[in-house]
Amino acid sequence: ADATRGGVVDRVLTAALESVEDNEEELGRLDAVAADGDHGLGISRGMRAAVVAARHAEAAGAGVPDALLRAGTALADAAGGASGALYGVLLAETGAGLRGLPEITAGALAGAVDRAAHAFVQLGGAEPGEKTMLDAIEPFRVTLRAEADAGSGLERAWRKAALAASTAAADTANLVPAKGRAARLAEKSKGHADPGATSFALIVTAVGEELGK
Ligand code: ADP
Ligand code: MG
Ligand code: MG
Repeated sequence: ADATRGGVVDRVLTAALESVEDNEEELGRLDAVAADGDHGLGISRGMRAAVVAARHAEAAGAGVPDALLRAGTALADAAGGASGALYGVLLAETGAGLRGLPEITAGALAGAVDRAAHAFVQLGGAEPGEKTMLDAIEPFRVTLRAEADAGSGLERAWRKAALAASTAAADTANLVPAKGRAARLAEKSKGHADPGATSFALIVTAVGEELGK
């Protein structure tokens, strides 16, 4: 999905939706270990709404920033739950960070992801190591920035960042949850990856694969 062709937000979010749907049961199982088990259902429902919103926006001539804003708003409304609001902010603020830029380069995306991660932390109050989505987002953000600064193109930078997110998501199995529902049954979650970190890694990996097409 060449970022200069139309409908790119629809295409990357559709790829993300397919991955989330393929892993819906596993995400639910991970969320049921120490919390309420609804993460797979919630993120699938949210991503479906995000795809519809992006498709409508792009068909009406919206650019990437507006399509991401619409997708984020739709996701937050449809998904519900802590992760719905947080994913909604990530999408919307990534869009806001790209507004007015002449071209979507690796550096532009790195800047937009910096902004989105900042807004994410403002909303959820998580700190690194608390076993949340942030533990996959931070390595993603840092790697994307490093790759952009080293001169990597958008697709390569994104794929490296997605790999960092996947490794980090798996590594959350070693952490003890301190934020969100799972904090109350923290001990139970030992040895299991955080559901939100896992879905984040699935989403950015699917987006990276789509960018390569
Ligand atoms: P809920 O807990 O409302 O049922 P989900 O099950 O959809 O929401 O999402 C749970 C995931 O949300 C967790 O695995 C964690 O990654 C993320 N999460 C929850 N609270 C926070 C927070 N305050 N900051 C960052 N991430 C959070
Ligand atoms: Mg849940
Ligand atoms: Mg819930």
